[in-house]
Amino acid sequence: MVEVALEHVTKQFGKVSGVQNVDIRIQPGEFFTFLGPSGCGKTTTLRMIAGFYYPTSGRIVFGNQDVTTLPPHKRNTGMVFQNYALFPHLTVFENVAFGLQVRRRPKDERIQRVERALHQVHLQGYGNRRIDQLSGGQQQRVALARALVIEPNILLLDEPLSNLDAKLREETRLEIKRLQVESGITTIYVTHDQAEAMAMSDRIMVMQGGVVQQVGKPEEIYNRPLNRFVASFIGESNLWEGIVERIEGDRIYVRVSPDLVLCGSMKNSSPHSRFAVGAQTTMSIRPEAVREASSEFAQSENTFVAKVVIAEFTGVNVNYLTEAANRPLKAMFVNQGHQVRQRDDRLAIHIPGDSIYFLE
Ligand code: ATP
Repeated sequence: MVEVALEHVTKQFGKVSGVQNVDIRIQPGEFFTFLGPSGCGKTTTLRMIAGFYYPTSGRIVFGNQDVTTLPPHKRNTGMVFQNYALFPHLTVFENVAFGLQVRRRPKDERIQRVERALHQVHLQGYGNRRIDQLSGGQQQRVALARALVIEPNILLLDEPLSNLDAKLREETRLEIKRLQVESGITTIYVTHDQAEAMAMSDRIMVMQGGVVQQVGKPEEIYNRPLNRFVASFIGESNLWEGIVERIEGDRIYVRVSPDLVLCGSMKNSSPHSRFAVGAQTTMSIRPEAVREASSEFAQSENTFVAKVVIAEFTGVNVNYLTEAANRPLKAMFVNQGHQVRQRDDRLAIHIPGDSIYFLE
């Protein structure tokens, strides 16, 4: 198990900025994910760790070893690519054995280690098959076995599930997680899929435009997003703007429209938030935090009427897109067998004050 440190790593492609000043420490045995939209710099960062790109500035350190400009084959990393990058004309065995062949391991050892790697990914008995005789999910497992067989110190996975259909993606996701937990190998995973990142990772690094936005455990990133980008990229969020009307102790009252004031707690805010009467603030309200009020005539705080625009029944939930205070509000209710509302129906809404999160 090896620690991976990126120290102020920047990569420029001529005038194009790939990533800027990434500074993180990935703990030994950690499952660490780079998450962000297309073009945010996650693959570039992973490629620098693998050695396919060298940083323009900064250092990359594995344990005590500075690997910043070490060629890929000297880093003892195992890599799995989005398109698998298998050799289609070779058998499963030959594909998995490739890294051992290059390292000139004796034949007996090759056979033994390939068998073990195929067993790890539940493909024992498939050694003689050709790659084009396998399903997409099986091909992805061969790619995993090929990465694992060299017993790497670090496993690097670049969007490994994106070519699989939804069901297979979920199965393979569990499989990768199981392998990682069993082997304890330091794993770095790249994805643009926030649900995948949340489900698999010990910690996530959220990136946008080549810049790290936040690093933290899934629950930290979800519950305490540092900024607007993280709040809207991770899960769904209603981002409502308003003007601070008054402050009483740690309670803060925000006018969102001429006839609606919402009240929340200042404690529930991103670390750098400052509040002043008359200043604008952005509130993040998760759809699952929105409640149906017992009566639309209830005069209690944070209660108001919304109009249904779209109702979506998923079985587990009823999701509503509504309109309130002249702005969209998404609400997600757990299905309890109540009647699903229709377009233009009125819905009495309550937003618990402690579920409002103020962004910087
Ligand atoms: P995707 O999910 O689409 O793969 P990504 O988050 O992995 O995106 P990168 O591939 O790391 O993003 O790209 C980051 C930025 O660097 C982009 O603006 C991209 O156009 C640029 N870039 C990446 N590789 C090169 C290259 N070889 N030459 C020039 N620019 C590059």
